[in-house]
Amino acid sequence: MHISLRRRGAPYGVKLAESKLTAASPIERAPLPEKVIIALHQNIGAPCKPLVKRGDKVLAGQKIGDSEKFVSVPVHATVSGEISSTTMLVHPATGQLVEALVVTSDGMDKWVDFEARDDIDMLSVEEILKRIREAGIVGLGGAAFPTHVKLSPPKDKKIDTVILNGCECEPYITSDHKVMLEYGKEVLSGLNIIRKVLSPDSVYIAIEDNKEDAIEHLRELLASMGLDGNWEMITLRSKYPMGAEKTLIKSILGREVPIGGLPLDVGVVVHNVSTAKAIHDAVFEGRPFVERVITITGAVKNPKNLLVRLGTPLRDLIQNCGGMDGEADEIILGGPMMGISQFDLDFPVIKGTNCVLVKKNVPINERDCISCGRCLEACPMHLMPTILVRYVKAGRYDACKEAYIDDCFECGACAYACPANIPIVQYIKVAKSELINRAAKK
Ligand code: SF4
Ligand code: SF4
Repeated sequence: MHISLRRRGAPYGVKLAESKLTAASPIERAPLPEKVIIALHQNIGAPCKPLVKRGDKVLAGQKIGDSEKFVSVPVHATVSGEISSTTMLVHPATGQLVEALVVTSDGMDKWVDFEARDDIDMLSVEEILKRIREAGIVGLGGAAFPTHVKLSPPKDKKIDTVILNGCECEPYITSDHKVMLEYGKEVLSGLNIIRKVLSPDSVYIAIEDNKEDAIEHLRELLASMGLDGNWEMITLRSKYPMGAEKTLIKSILGREVPIGGLPLDVGVVVHNVSTAKAIHDAVFEGRPFVERVITITGAVKNPKNLLVRLGTPLRDLIQNCGGMDGEADEIILGGPMMGISQFDLDFPVIKGTNCVLVKKNVPINERDCISCGRCLEACPMHLMPTILVRYVKAGRYDACKEAYIDDCFECGACAYACPANIPIVQYIKVAKSELINRAAKK
C-alpha cells in the first residue's frame, strides 16, 4: 500500500509577531560609502568575469563584470572612483567563495550617461528584455533569479497570469512596503512593462491586509494611471509565508505548482514590487540596478529603511543606524524566518539583500518530538516535517526524497510552530546537501 507523505487541502502557515519597527519610517538615502565591494556572482546562474582591472577608473553605473551565459546578469560600479583591489567573499546563500571587486570612491559620484526612453511602445519585447538584462536586474524578493530569464518563458509555456507580489510576510522587513508607498508609480509602470512582455490574460496585485495604506495608494494610482481595467487588487490575510510564490499562486488561483516545478508550469509568473520598480528604472531611464531599499532593524539604536548603494559594507549601514545594541551578536541577511546568519561586518550588500536584522543569538534547547502535529499544520507545502526529521536522524536520505523534501522551500514555519524547539529546517538542509553530494558522485 502506498502511503502519501504529503497532506492536501489543510489550512497552513503561522501567525507571527510582525515586529515591523520601521513601518512608519520613510526611506532615507544612506550616505555615499567610501568603498563598495561588488561580488561578481550575486544571483542564481553563471558568475561574471571582470571587465576592469586594478587601478582602472570607473563611473557609477559602469558595467564592471559580465558573462556570456543566458542565465546571468552583469554587475556595475555603484560609486565613481578606482578599482583598488580584488577580494574573495563567502556567498551567504551558497557558502561558495566568490570573487569581488573593490571600488574606492572618489567622493564625486560621477555617473555614466543613461539612455532614457519616453515611450516603451516603440520598443520590441527583445529590446525591453535587453535593457532589463543590461541593467543587471534579478528578483529582489530574495531569490535573485535573473529577471530577463523569468520574462522569457519557453515557447510551449503559455503565461496567462502575472502576479505582482507586495506581501512582504516576514517579520521586521518593511522595504517593499515603503517602495510601494514612495515609488508606487514606478512599481505599476514596471508591472505594465511585464504585462507588455508576457501578454497575460490577468494581472493581480497581491498585498497582505496589514498594509492598508499601500493597498489604498496603489488602488488610487491604478485609477489615475488608467490601469485598473483588467488588473485586480487582491488583499490577502496576513499570515506567514503568504508571500512565497507557490503559496501565493495557490491562495489566489487555487493552482498547485507541481513537485520540482516552477510557477510557469501552471501558467503564472510572480514578480516582487521592488523588481518591478527596477524594471521601470531600466526600461524608461536606462538606469542600471545599483541601489536598493533595505530595512536595517532589530537591535540597532535607530532602525531605518535606507536607500543603499550595492556593495556598501554592512558595518556602514549599522553605524548609520546608531550602532548595535550592546547585547546583540548576530547579523541576519533577510528576515528572522528565511534569513541567513552573517558574522562578517565587512560583508557587502548584494542584490538580494532586502533586510539586515541585528539580534542576540539564542541557543536552541532541542527536545524530543511529542508528535503534536503542529509542524504539519504549519507547512504551506503540505509536507510532513516531523517525518522528514525522523528520516534525517536515521540517515534515510532517500526516504526524505520520497517524502518530497525537494518541495520544502525552507520557510521555517514548521520550526516556528514546534513546541519541542526542533530545528527542523537545519535537519532538512543537512538532508538536501547530502542528497546533492550523492547525486554529484553518481
Ligand atoms: S520549512 Fe519546509 S517543511 Fe517546514 S514548513 Fe516550510 S516548506 Fe514546510
Ligand atoms: S511540531 Fe515538533 S514536536 Fe510537534 S510533531 Fe512536529 S516536530 Fe514533533
